Amino acid sequence: MDYDKINWLDANCKDAPSELFYPVVTEDDRPDDGLFADTVDFYAEGKVYCASCPLREQCLAYAVENRERYGLWGGLSPLERRRIDRRARRLRLRERRENETKQRQNHAYDDTLDASDFDFDE
Ligand code: SF4
Repeated sequence: MDYDKINWLDANCKDAPSELFYPVVTEDDRPDDGLFADTVDFYAEGKVYCASCPLREQCLAYAVENRERYGLWGGLSPLERRRIDRRARRLRLRERRENETKQRQNHAYDDTLDASDFDFDE
């Protein structure tokens, strides 16, 4: 995707307060279990902007491709983006393993063939 061609001035968030997309999180905001503040939805207000944004798809793709660690992009928080990134990596890994298995099976099949498998007189 050519991100230089995206007109970010079309973004719903262009005049929105930046803290809706980059919330300031303090120790007090962390839940008692010590998990990162992302587990609490600090991005709810920002997500309202993203929900109808014409650039949502490109925004999310940019963030995932560039591994943006912070902020709300394409309507997803950092934790939500990490989840889809991990899922995509797992799918790619599974696909690669399946391809490798198929290649090994094809080689095994090739190894079982010899000249007697072919009728050269035809
Ligand atoms: S999708 Fe991206 S560009 Fe659109 S409002 Fe949300 S953060 Fe802004």
